[in-house]
Parts: sequence; C-alpha cells; structure tokens
Amino acid sequence: MIYQSTRNDSLQASSAQAILDGMARDGGLYSPASLDGLAFDWRSLLPLSTQEMATKILTVLLPSFSEAEMAALVRQAYAGKFETEELTPTVSVGDDTLLELFRGPTSAFKDVALSMLPLLMTAAREKCGVDDDILILTATSGDTGKAAMEGFRNVPGTRILVFYPHGGVSPVQQAQMATQDGDNVCVCAVRGNFDDAQTGVKNIFAAVEQEELLAGKGVRLSSANSINIGRLAPQVVYYFKAYADLVRAGRIAPGEGVDFVVPTGNFGDILAGYFAKALGLPVGKLVCASNANHILTDFLRTGVYDRNRPFYKTISPSMDILVSSNLERLLFLLSRDADLVARLMKSLSETGAYQVPAALKQRLDELFFAACCDDEGAKRAIGTVWRQYGYLMDTHTAVAYDAAQQYKAACPDHRPVVILSTASPYKFPAAVLEALGEAPGPDEFAAMERLAAVTKVPMPKNLQGLRERLVRHRDVIEPGEMLSYVLDKAVGQEG
Ligand SMILES: *Cc1c(COP(=O)(O)O)cnc(C)c1O
Repeated sequence: MIYQSTRNDSLQASSAQAILDGMARDGGLYSPASLDGLAFDWRSLLPLSTQEMATKILTVLLPSFSEAEMAALVRQAYAGKFETEELTPTVSVGDDTLLELFRGPTSAFKDVALSMLPLLMTAAREKCGVDDDILILTATSGDTGKAAMEGFRNVPGTRILVFYPHGGVSPVQQAQMATQDGDNVCVCAVRGNFDDAQTGVKNIFAAVEQEELLAGKGVRLSSANSINIGRLAPQVVYYFKAYADLVRAGRIAPGEGVDFVVPTGNFGDILAGYFAKALGLPVGKLVCASNANHILTDFLRTGVYDRNRPFYKTISPSMDILVSSNLERLLFLLSRDADLVARLMKSLSETGAYQVPAALKQRLDELFFAACCDDEGAKRAIGTVWRQYGYLMDTHTAVAYDAAQQYKAACPDHRPVVILSTASPYKFPAAVLEALGEAPGPDEFAAMERLAAVTKVPMPKNLQGLRERLVRHRDVIEPGEMLSYVLDKAVGQEG
C-alpha cells in the first residue's frame, strides 16, 4: 500500500518513509491513497491475543514491514510494559462496555501507540538507509508528551523535544513531564494554548524543510503526534480487541455491529475506528464526544468547521483542541480529492473556517454521531457511575460516557456500545474528587492521596511518589521562540 499527501496525489511515500517523515513536505498528512481492498478476514483475528492481532493489522497498514519483522517489533514494544498481557481490557458498566486504554506506562491511552512508534521509527530509519539522528518534535495537550518521552527515552538514534501549553495541562501531567529522565529527552512550556504549540511545531517543520535549516547537521525532524501514521496505526488494534471481547463474552454474535464512543481531541483515536471499519470490522456508528470546545460536534452536525470561537480550558485538557489535525485524513479518505482537501485547509489557515460539500457531509452523517458535554456534565457522569456501579472514570472518559447516553437516547435502535476510556482518574484527581462530592484539597498531589483513600481504587504505580521526583525541565518560552529553541537543541546536542 502506498501513502500519499492528503493535499497532493503525486507526493507519495512507502509506509516506512511516511513514518520517518512524520508529515508530508507540502504540509499535508500521509494517508493511504485508499482503504478499499484492505478488508481482510477479521473473523480469523477474534481468537488471537492482542499482540497477535496487532501484528496482523499493522502488517496490513504498514506493508514496508514483513509479518515476522512486525511480530518482533510488537513483542518488544509491549513486553512487560502494561498492567495486563491483554494490554487493553474491557469492563462492563451497566449496559455499556468500557475499553480501558490507560493501563500502560504513563496511564494514558497514548501509551498504546507510543510504545510502538519508537520501534517503528528506528526500524523505518534502517529500512530507508538513513544515518541521521531523528529529532522527534511534539506538541502535547498533556498526555502525548509524557507517553512519547517514555517511549523514546534512551532509544538510540533518536532525540525528543516536547512542547506543552504553559498552564494548559493538569499539574499531574506537568509533573510527569518535568520529571522525565533520559539522555535524549527535553520538554519545554510555551506561553499559549495547545493550538499555538501545535501550529508552532507545524511551522517549524515547514521552515526547516523550506530553508534547509538542518542540512548537514546530522539530524532530521519527525513527529510523534497523531499526524504520524505510525502513531495512528497501532490504535486500530484495540477496536478489534474490544470486538473480540464482546464476542467472547456472548454479548454479540460475530458479524453483529458495535457502536464506539470516542472522547475526541485531535481526531486520531476516532479515525483509527474508521480504519477498523474500513478493514472490515462491523463498526456501527462512531460517536464523536467533545467537551466545551465542541467544534467537532458543530462540524459533524452542520458541515461547517469554524475555529473562530473562544477556547475553553476544561477539566478534560487533552481534548481542549480547536484544530483537529486528523480530520484532514478523514476528509481525504471520504472525498479522495486532494485538491479539495488542499482548498479546505487553505481556507482554514486563512479564514479559520471551511464548509464541506454536501456529498461529503452526507458520508459524515452515515458514519458519525456527535455529542458534547461540559465540565458539569462530566462531573455528574463521574459521580453517577461511581455511585451506581462503583466504577471510577477519568474526566475524558466521563465526556464520552455522557455522549454515549445522549446517543442511546437519540437513537433507540443503537447497537451494543463500547466507550473508549482514555486515562486513569488519578491523572485528574482534583476534578474527579469534586465530582464525588469531596473537597479537592490543597493541591493535586494531596488530591491523588485523598482519591485513593476515598475510593480504594488502586493508584497506578507510575503515578505513585510523583511529588518527590526530581524536576529536570523548567524552560518556558514564547511561541515565537520555538524555532530557535529547536535549532539550539538540535545543533547543541550534536555529536
Ligand atoms: C489525547 C487524548 C484524547 C483525545 O484523543 P485524540 O486522538 O486526540 O482525539 C482523549 N482522552 C485523553 C485522556 C487523551 O490523552
């Protein structure tokens, strides 16, 4: 399978090259030219372990790698890193099934993909015969940064530089990142919100490419954000895993449809669900759940994407995003029209808005349902689910839970519902405590202890003792300083 830029049919790459580059030279994202013909015998995957499923699915999506190579990468990526061998367990909560994606090394769903990406990246580097070091540049709304640094820490031939919005991540997320060890990691706060950081990173890619700023320096850029297809592909696997669990539990017969509800920010997770459907998995509706920054809800309902609106800081910060990068891949895959996508993205960057053609809007209606939930609604959901079922959700999962109930009320003929659970409640302890009707305490670390005392839900190991860990990264810069910061770090660490 060949990858191409979402904005230009003639800009093509192998899957290994696409992973190595992170994004296409013209500012577009690498996407399969088409997902048609990729459908394979998903039934044969149902009895397999999660790792075996991952090997099969990733070999289809990233054919630069043989099945044997992929099996070795998958084994290395996940061995001993997650709380359970099945990686992503499912749990019944009332009528719904929650797919727990946060049982990895940093307690966020991004661990699933970011355990895999560094191995794909170094294998791709070898395949493409590249000697340069890879400098991973990443903007994070909180969870990607930590998971990416943990994944790339001390991986030979790679360095990683993470930018996060100053004051725009939770104190636990901030502490997780600031205390990161590893010889090849660096993290820096940017005075602005996530979109400023993400735009800054995209601009650095463009500037480095156009002005050849790193030529001859023995280092090249790539991305660990979900704009990298190597980040997206591993996320397809857990849709199959959840489906297999439902079959195994007798909740569905093989072939029956399942609806998935996805707490959405950059649209990577839910796009992986669309890929799963294209591979043949009986995915019914994909329910896109947003918080108060509900630009995607508005878009899916009206066909108009308009980022000219206030930006809210919510208790689900990893979804505080107004420019959802992966939507571009969906628009391309549904329209197969790179010129259209290029026009829409130009309009987005010039006016902050675009409207999709009617035919495309109709495809969106068939595939998606959209709902949003503000902080009050999310807290209510956390409290209700705790009291009714004794299950503790994080603030992002709570948005999806609420959206799931909205969806079921609006569509009585819905299928069995799987809600993607994306973070441990201990990453957002003050908000979760408040939702339980408890005082949050003097700071987030006290809140973590209090949450453990009140609920008796075990605290993930990686979050224990966070307060005592050594702070290693303190830099704060303006968005305008990001490029020079990168060049300093890229050149400064040379050799
Ligand atoms: C990143 C993240 C999301 C959003 O996922 P996208 O792929 O960006 O849509 C949701 N919840 C949590 C906890 C996250 O870290």
